[in-house]
Amino acid sequence: MSKEKVLITSALPYANGPIHLGHLSGAYLPADIYVRYKRLNGDDVLYICGSDEHGVPITITADKEGVSPQVIIDRYHEANKKAFDKFGMSFDNYSRTSLPIHHETAKEFFLEFFNRGLFVEKKSNQFYDEKAKMFLPDRYVEGTCPSCGNEQARSDECENCGSLYDPSELKNPKSKVSGETPVLKETTHYFFPLGNYQPALEKYVNEMNEKYCWKDNVLQYCRSWFKEGLKDRAITRDLDWGVKVPVDSAAGKVIYVWFEAVLGYISSTKEYSQLKNDPELWRKYWQDTSTKYIAFIGKDNVVFHTIIFPAILMAWNEGEREKYCLPQNVPANEFLNFEGKKFSKSRGWGIDVEEFLNIFPADPLRYTLAANLPEKSDTDFYWKEFQLRNNSELADILGNFINRTFTFVHKHFDGRVPIRGKLDKIDEDMLEEISEYPKRVSDLFERFRIKDGVNEIMNLARDGNKYFNDSEPWITVKSNKEKCATTLNVCLLAIYTLAELFYPVIPFSSEKIFKMLNSKPVAWKESGKSFLKEGHQINSAKILFPKIEDEVIEDQISKLGNADTEKEKKVDELISYDDFMKTKLKVAEVIAAEKIAKSKKLMKLKVLLDDGERQVVAGIAEHYNPEDLAGKKVVVVANLQPAKLMGEESQGMILAVDKEAGGLQVIVVDDSVKIGTRVK
Ligand SMILES: [Zn+2]
Repeated sequence: MSKEKVLITSALPYANGPIHLGHLSGAYLPADIYVRYKRLNGDDVLYICGSDEHGVPITITADKEGVSPQVIIDRYHEANKKAFDKFGMSFDNYSRTSLPIHHETAKEFFLEFFNRGLFVEKKSNQFYDEKAKMFLPDRYVEGTCPSCGNEQARSDECENCGSLYDPSELKNPKSKVSGETPVLKETTHYFFPLGNYQPALEKYVNEMNEKYCWKDNVLQYCRSWFKEGLKDRAITRDLDWGVKVPVDSAAGKVIYVWFEAVLGYISSTKEYSQLKNDPELWRKYWQDTSTKYIAFIGKDNVVFHTIIFPAILMAWNEGEREKYCLPQNVPANEFLNFEGKKFSKSRGWGIDVEEFLNIFPADPLRYTLAANLPEKSDTDFYWKEFQLRNNSELADILGNFINRTFTFVHKHFDGRVPIRGKLDKIDEDMLEEISEYPKRVSDLFERFRIKDGVNEIMNLARDGNKYFNDSEPWITVKSNKEKCATTLNVCLLAIYTLAELFYPVIPFSSEKIFKMLNSKPVAWKESGKSFLKEGHQINSAKILFPKIEDEVIEDQISKLGNADTEKEKKVDELISYDDFMKTKLKVAEVIAAEKIAKSKKLMKLKVLLDDGERQVVAGIAEHYNPEDLAGKKVVVVANLQPAKLMGEESQGMILAVDKEAGGLQVIVVDDSVKIGTRVK
């Protein structure tokens, strides 16, 4: 296969909080594995990322802490960059959208479209805080939803019931900035005519899918958007923080973050070019039709990378200037959950990357996440699985195979690669197997089946152990040393190949293995064939994957917070109001009560309802004396089918609750309530 020029981007993480394991599984680890593989494959690879540093949530965090937005983005840009480094992310450039180079790029796109008359100007009413003298973005206004009465509804949207409404319909609006009641004021915004690009976008998605086989989940998202019909989208905001709209008539407005953030990939590449002292280098990737552009993202970003970003680039490409290439594939992943539930910082559910890597090395985490990527559906991180993957796979399969081979070579062959003698069937089979792995794995990686590729690589280590066992070098070392030498020669080839194939997945360990082999990676295609020369001196073996003890894992599990989500609290089946009203609960007065002779628990009560007297049998004799109840007003299920208890007929049921300290309490209402009143 000829050398490819590949541009790879991972979704820009939002600089408003620390990244967690779910982020890694979505847009970062699969991209890094692909990138590292492509580099070994000899392709011309550029891997771009950076922090997304604009938008309202950042200004809200800043307001809450009483600091400037710059403080927030500096904090999380640095923290996330450091966490990515520690995790072994091999970005060629990690930029930030607050840099002047990004502002220039975003303004250039805006002006190009503005000057061509592409934008539609629309007037709308928006909340304005007269005290703070500012227009209030959606999230800065709180009020009561006109549909469901939720008191934390936003200016034009209620997250509780999903209603969309005009801001004028919101009840009791309050500004989150000053606490004052905001007024509605007219403002003008520029809209990008996304709807006009729908036919071209559908054609683009279908063509890319036919040629490059997009993932089903990604196609489904796109098609559901197309089905609903794409609408014009406002691309300006009345806000301070962000890229200023570069036209005089729009003072006080910034470019809406969804429009400019995706352009961050381009500006990050420009920054990379400047750092390389080759300012035009970025064009070689972005403005060359031979570029294969792959955008790695999580499922929450699909619309931005398959519809909005391509539409922006299409609109640009309709002009007279150098044209951009569009994503060839967008292999979006689903979500990773944590121990069966969604990550939630506020509930202490899940773990930040930095925190994790302060306790454990990166490779076992990379391997665990890679072996279980949410490629087709959501998956889970479990502490126990992490321990198992480290102890039973990395240590017991891969580490053990390497260790036993090295020990043998040092003990019996002076630490030099033994001579490969006459090959038996078992050796020939193993050599063939080894030589086939690189192609097998690259076929999977090329189709973005990263998880399958990773699991396949571990199979080579399994094959290695089996070959070692079946060849019984501990016997042949005494009976047939030439045969023993051949076995270990083949085992070292398998290890050399494993070091190469595992390099994209567990790069830190792979480097150690190469060091132990006293060697370096080769071209991916050569791996499995080329070999260390006979007599080549290898270094001593190191422990690659220390076992993780139970206590260490239990300790982490015990730190988990309470992640009961709203949804889980509602596990009880819901009934309708009509269902509830089928049960006639009425207030009744107890006229007389007596214990049933043959029963310890039962008491016979005479109660008065609006339709007359009835007899009710209740299991309360252990908790009440009959005289305690006479004259009390209780709640009775009035339309319960009659039943016989200990020979006595019961024409209803008395409501009671368990007491915390044990015992029962009959529900009693006070005297002011009339007999027969319906409880509802
Ligand atoms: Zn609502």
